[in-house]
Amino acid sequence: MRHIDLSLFSPYEKLFLTDELLSKYAFSLCGGPCPGLIKVENSQMLESVIKCCIAAGFPYKVLGGMTNILISDKGFDGVVILNRKGKISHKELEDGSVWLSAESGAGMAAVVRYCMENGISGMEWAAGLPGTVGGAVCGNAGAFGTEISDIFMFGSMLDEKGCQNHISHENMGYSYRSSILKHQDNNRILLGASFLLGKGDTEEISSRCEEYKERRKSTQPIDEHSLGSVFKNPEGESAGKMIQAAGLKGFSVGKASVSLKHANFIVTEKGVTSADYHRLVCHVQNKVYEQFSVLLEPEIELFGFEVNG
Ligand SMILES: Cc1cc2nc3c(=O)[nH]c(=O)nc-3n(C[C@H](O)[C@H](O)[C@H](O)COP(=O)(O)OP(=O)(O)OC[C@H]3O[C@@H](n4cnc5c(N)ncnc54)[C@H](O)[C@@H]3O)c2cc1C
Repeated sequence: MRHIDLSLFSPYEKLFLTDELLSKYAFSLCGGPCPGLIKVENSQMLESVIKCCIAAGFPYKVLGGMTNILISDKGFDGVVILNRKGKISHKELEDGSVWLSAESGAGMAAVVRYCMENGISGMEWAAGLPGTVGGAVCGNAGAFGTEISDIFMFGSMLDEKGCQNHISHENMGYSYRSSILKHQDNNRILLGASFLLGKGDTEEISSRCEEYKERRKSTQPIDEHSLGSVFKNPEGESAGKMIQAAGLKGFSVGKASVSLKHANFIVTEKGVTSADYHRLVCHVQNKVYEQFSVLLEPEIELFGFEVNG
């Protein structure tokens, strides 16, 4: 692992943690080491730290809740920037529409709560969605027939040179669980996003949020460690049903198992390795392919793995 010269990150050098294991921060409990990790407090700090990385020539990776990424046991030989805090604000217009703005580190749970408390409707589908605004916008997170791309209007982002740009919905390249921010090679980072929502009745919003949370609770292993749905649903099919039909519910590799509650979830226990998890992903893909001639495509991001390894 490279040496990170912390003096290059003034005034933030004291906030760095060195030689950290990413498994400590990952919802999957998986992930190897990194030489330098910093938790940023807001988008301004995020921008400053990224600019320091660019100036020093250090590779960097911005992570939110780590609820959709499997980092290999090799870890990441660069600076990990954990972006888990952010401000939320809104503006009501006379026509009943509401512009909600959030820094990319704001948790989706905080955004949903904010909407509930302020009588803003249109975000209820995200009740119970883990992770941050940055992760959701990057991966076009969705649930119950709505995706974040349905409400994302524009945002601010940093390009690979550290220049700030405005990005609108049309330029996001949105598709099923993907956007231009998802491509690892371009290192574009979302600083903040604006969503178009509407006014609503606080109690009705709250009861819809509860309903969505209950639906998650009854179908997903939300009390266990996981990365949510592991595979994308093939066109017109359900990945979970195919995995279940292949007899894989409960199948384990080390401390990673196909959930008994929802076959498209892999649940993990303390002591799990990314190699266990990845071997299980490959096993599920092979068995489903043998039975249905369909190659399941991962919805989760596999970071630092050999393409066919
Ligand atoms: C129990 C459970 C249920 C889930 N249910 C759903 C669901 O219903 N629908 C769904 O879509 N997903 C679901 N997920 C997956 C996951 O929660 C979402 O994809 C979430 O939006 C990921 O956000 P995150 O902050 O954790 O992203 P991370 O996992 O931290 O990061 C994912 C990717 O986004 C990038 N990224 C993060 N922040 C930024 C930023 N500011 N700028 C640019 N790139 C960034 C990272 O570099 C990484 O490449 C679920 C997960 C769990 C564990």
